[in-house]
Amino acid sequence: MPFFGCVSAEETLMTCGFCWDDETHPGTVTVTFSEGDATVIIKDVPAQICSNCEEYFLSEEVTEEVLERANGAFGRGTEVAILRYAA
Ligand SMILES: [Zn+2]
Repeated sequence: MPFFGCVSAEETLMTCGFCWDDETHPGTVTVTFSEGDATVIIKDVPAQICSNCEEYFLSEEVTEEVLERANGAFGRGTEVAILRYAA
């Protein structure tokens, strides 16, 4: 889960923590979590995406939300769960 170290508390444009390019643009990404044999895929997650290296960053609020959903899916013992962020 590489984005944990790169989360910004701010919703505004930010500097990429991977290539230090200072241009990110808002978009949506697919986030994948794995735990043992279980995989949870969450689509359409709002994120800031680096214009240079395509690495993405989630806000604190979005991170909490996707973690909650992933943990919920893991808790149900689902082997593969595909969720959509937008309700
Ligand atoms: Zn970058």
